Amino acid sequence: MASNVEDIPERLAAVRARLADAERAAGREPGEVALLAVSKRQPSAAIRAAAECGQRRFGESYLQEAVEKMEALAALDLEWHFIGPLQSNKTRDVAARFAWAHSLDRLKVARRLSEQRPDDLPPLQVCIQVNVSGEASKSGVTPGELPGLAEAVAALPRLRLRGLMTLPAPSDDPRMQRAPFRALAMALSDLRVEGFDVDTLSMGMSGDLEAAVAEGATIVRVGTDIFGARG
Ligand SMILES: *Cc1c(COP(=O)(O)O)cnc(C)c1O
Repeated sequence: MASNVEDIPERLAAVRARLADAERAAGREPGEVALLAVSKRQPSAAIRAAAECGQRRFGESYLQEAVEKMEALAALDLEWHFIGPLQSNKTRDVAARFAWAHSLDRLKVARRLSEQRPDDLPPLQVCIQVNVSGEASKSGVTPGELPGLAEAVAALPRLRLRGLMTLPAPSDDPRMQRAPFRALAMALSDLRVEGFDVDTLSMGMSGDLEAAVAEGATIVRVGTDIFGARG
């Protein structure tokens, strides 16, 4: 059951309050963690309602649907993040239309994104997706594969490697929720020790944003708790 567009201001305010509480509980600076509103399978009207409350960053997973909404909302100053599976047949539109891609996990795709990034846009900001728990999802590199891919991606001229993203299996247990986020934070700090200029941990969703903020998330990706169930 999708929520009404009229409910979005209140739902968004509640998520912002949760995020502020989580920052405070973790001893982080207020506003340090960016909120990415995940608008996949939500109509343009829902995005517009959130934008009217000052939300600028939106995450989409399905390219065709995303492009339609981007065109409908072209008059608004929004920042689009691609968070869905990234295959070679999607790179051209992602490179041309998005500011960020969070789900990079293959060098071939990275090379295409770099080649296809239009010259009049700044480099595409990218995160490498890491499968820290080693199960369920087939997306993401293993921690062992990460340094090699990071080195190759960092060398591509039209990409800017910003950090890491993970999408762990859902859990209701806060301790279980924190383990993969801690592993991702350690992988980022290992990259920094190796000299990579990376600052982004894209982790945490509606059900586990507090755990992610406690472990150092810099971007949380929240869909359901802002927009209601997906259509
Ligand atoms: C759908 C999705 C989200 C948002 O999940 P919610 O549980 O609705 O907050 C976050 N990240 C990715 C990669 C997603 O596909």
